[in-house]
Amino acid sequence: MRGRIGGQTGGSGGRSASVEVFGPIGDESACLHWLWTTLYAPDGVSTVCRHCRVMRRFHRVSKRRAYACDHCGTQVYPTAGTFMQGSSLGIVTWFAAWQHLESDPNVAPRRLADELGVSYKTALRIKRTLEEATAPGSADADLLERLRRDAGEPGATGGVPARERSSRARENIRAAACRAFAARGPSATRIADIAREAGVSSAIIHYYYKSKDEVLLAALQWANEHTSSALHELRQETSDTVELLRRTIDLAIPSEGVLRDEYVLWIETWARVRLHPRLLAECAAMSEGWVAFFQQLVEEGQAAGVFHPVAPPAEIAQRMVALSDGLSFRSAIGYTGMQVQRVRELLVSFAAEQLGVPAESLAAR
Ligand SMILES: [Zn+2]
Repeated sequence: MRGRIGGQTGGSGGRSASVEVFGPIGDESACLHWLWTTLYAPDGVSTVCRHCRVMRRFHRVSKRRAYACDHCGTQVYPTAGTFMQGSSLGIVTWFAAWQHLESDPNVAPRRLADELGVSYKTALRIKRTLEEATAPGSADADLLERLRRDAGEPGATGGVPARERSSRARENIRAAACRAFAARGPSATRIADIAREAGVSSAIIHYYYKSKDEVLLAALQWANEHTSSALHELRQETSDTVELLRRTIDLAIPSEGVLRDEYVLWIETWARVRLHPRLLAECAAMSEGWVAFFQQLVEEGQAAGVFHPVAPPAEIAQRMVALSDGLSFRSAIGYTGMQVQRVRELLVSFAAEQLGVPAESLAAR
């Protein structure tokens, strides 16, 4: 599919330019959607909300370059942190400029201005920014590489190779299955419910997965991958081990009404594990991911002289995950006196004791 966009009238004698952009990149809205799916939500709908700290459905915010969490309204601006951050130019203009520079790196700014329908000064600035963004080692290099791949060959179907279209379809189904299973529980969820949630026919789901249990496994893997990426993001955000521990505890326990559904899903899954060994491997992998993360955290804090563990880090990690799981499941089921706040207090006092840090430094904020 080709998108045709009209450029604005620029400062170059008022000539109105039009720029052709190939592939999935069509109009402004399509470009924003491409950024959104490339950087945040492979299925176009779900990503981990930084406020809720779990996978959520998001919707496009009208008149803004943003998507908002259906649950809490937290917004994501896909241009944030990219070379387009803070620019009032359309994303489509940036992408079109990038395509011009791709085909002719030495394009004169005057020519670029004419092609894009922007002023000479703006074209200069665009060119400089894109040269920096495409430089080896730049933070945007990966994004532009993906743009190159997705923009693809002119005339290709949507610019997206068949294999990739199929992997996007799977992403969409996995995310939808996760939401459907969490809402109804695996036993009560039918393939038709997942299909409705994913916006596809039941036949499509049967095409990709042999049985409901296969879909459940895929959904668990999806949840697993997103937990890993949430933990990875936490690492990027802070290098202070105590703060990292405090925030990991937040991520590990169910927040009020939020993570509860996911825990209920895990309880139902555990009940099926005996019959389905593949589910066991996935459950174990998820748990191991947490243990490994805690262990590394304890080792780092110990090396930095901040933590004074009372046992080997590997053992402390097992204890932390076991306590966190146990308390969280009780809370999710609704045991009296097991509100999320209480779970957090118990876990914090335990971690403080195990690691020799003041409990106050791990308190909720
Ligand atoms: Zn949210």
